[in-house]
Amino acid sequence: MGRLLIIGCGGVAGVAIHKCCQNSKTFSEICIASRTKSRCDDLKEKLEKTTETKITTAQVDADNVDELIALIKDYQPDAVLNVALPYQDLTIMDACLACKVDYIDTANYEPEDTDDPQWRAIYEKRCKDEGFTAYFDYSWQWAYQDRFKEAGITALLGSGFDPGVTSVFTAYALKHYFDEIETIDILDCNGGDHGYPFATNFNPEINLREVSANGSYWENGHWVETEPMEIKREYDFPQVGQKDMYLLHHEEIESLAKNVPGVKRIRFFMTFGQSYLTHMKCLENVGMLSTSPIMYEGREIVPIQFLKALLPDPASLGARTVGKTNIGCIFTGKKDGKEKTIYIYNVCDHQECYKEVGSQAISYTTGVPAMIGAALVLDKVWDKDGVFNIEEFDPDPFMDMLNQYGLPWVVDENPQTVE
Ligand code: NDP
Repeated sequence: MGRLLIIGCGGVAGVAIHKCCQNSKTFSEICIASRTKSRCDDLKEKLEKTTETKITTAQVDADNVDELIALIKDYQPDAVLNVALPYQDLTIMDACLACKVDYIDTANYEPEDTDDPQWRAIYEKRCKDEGFTAYFDYSWQWAYQDRFKEAGITALLGSGFDPGVTSVFTAYALKHYFDEIETIDILDCNGGDHGYPFATNFNPEINLREVSANGSYWENGHWVETEPMEIKREYDFPQVGQKDMYLLHHEEIESLAKNVPGVKRIRFFMTFGQSYLTHMKCLENVGMLSTSPIMYEGREIVPIQFLKALLPDPASLGARTVGKTNIGCIFTGKKDGKEKTIYIYNVCDHQECYKEVGSQAISYTTGVPAMIGAALVLDKVWDKDGVFNIEEFDPDPFMDMLNQYGLPWVVDENPQTVE
């Protein structure tokens, strides 16, 4: 029995909230808050007839720590689930710290304004020291470790699918299948088709920033950076088929490199169709992916935010998306002195998700683990003081809940590997 404050009411939040309402024993009360309260009210109206969970709503600007503190003091939650944007991670963590309330999120911190000189100076030093140039990294949130520990509260970082389920798959493989993991290939395949020439499956700004950036992977104790989309492989995904996939930088590589002892290489691949890549390159070439404000007819606009307004809302793709996702990890390593390779993955059907919760599989595969992470923290099954990535907790209860809440997984002990 507990009370959860959920910040954000977009695609991922919509699924997480549906799933909380299927688990009223843990989530006896939830409050949905975002800047646009009407969206929270619409979802409440849709769900409250179907659940024993008591739902309330609130208006909050999560960029404002004082507003967040006032809301937390008023609602008195046991934990806060951040399913707004990565831009709000630090303000929400600050408010949780001030109120001594547990914190859960699905994506690591990234600044909204990458031209901010103060942030830029720290970023440029990190690029030099660490060797990767992504705008996001864990250093900002890991810096809260001592303060969360002293306050006696938990921060659970990265409770989505990737990061999230892929990180839990890693902890599970290490616990049950390996003495030592040598390599991890994380494969994220979306075999879905929404019928639009171009659309993104989650927040366009976050998605396009991620995909247009340099790729990178972890090898022998350091980062190796590549040009965007430089490394391409083909893979025959179970239940989806043959797809092209490209190596990207991805945030769980950073935490897994820290938390998997002796790991030699970690790579992340995502599938893209040619149409998506051609559109993205064109938009990038004309400056539409820029996050730097420009003046247009006397008004300041940010090109990528304007583009977001033109693209289909990811939350609206559900009804028209058909096909399946397959996301998982291939591990190689040793058990009892013998070489071993396993592949743990989940297959999720876009239309099945739509029938159940009214959204496509990308939001579904992120929203379900967000609910599970929040449930394990709320029920004190996962209870450690400080800031932790999800692979630092016992994976077994999470793996059981994936089967129970719609994301069943498969272990293949003789998989195709990636060269
Ligand atoms: P959406 O853009 O659909 O939703 C974002 C929500 O946050 C909206 O409801 C928005 O509402 C709210 N929001 C934005 N700014 C603020 C603010 N300042 N204060 C309060 N609320 C705010 O995004 P998604 O649902 O697609 O993504 C949500 C999160 O999930 C992102 O952090 C994304 O990176 C992460 N993600 C993680 C994945 C994983 O596997 N780990 C995969 C996919 C996404 P409003 O503007 O009305 O306030």
